[in-house]
Amino acid sequence: MRKYKNGGQLETVVCNCCGKKIIVSEGVAREGVISINHSWDFFSEKDGEIHHFDLCENCYDTITMEFKLPVEIEEQLEYL
Ligand SMILES: [Zn+2]
Repeated sequence: MRKYKNGGQLETVVCNCCGKKIIVSEGVAREGVISINHSWDFFSEKDGEIHHFDLCENCYDTITMEFKLPVEIEEQLEYL
C-alpha cells in the first residue's frame, strides 16, 4: 500500500501482507519492497479491475518459498 504527497512524491509504503512500514526517505523506499500493479483482463473473474499491493522482502521470501517452481532470477546488468 502506497501513499503519495500532494506533489506526487512517495510518502508511505506499507506491506499489505504483514503491515510492516517500509522506510521511505526523500520519496524513495530504502528497504526491499515489491509492488504489484495488475490489470485483470477479460479472461479473469476480475475483468476491469486493477489491483495494487506491496510486499516487504520477508513476505516476498515467505510467499515465493511456497512456489512449486522457483522464481526465475537473472543478474541485473549494471550501467556505470
Ligand atoms: Zn511483509
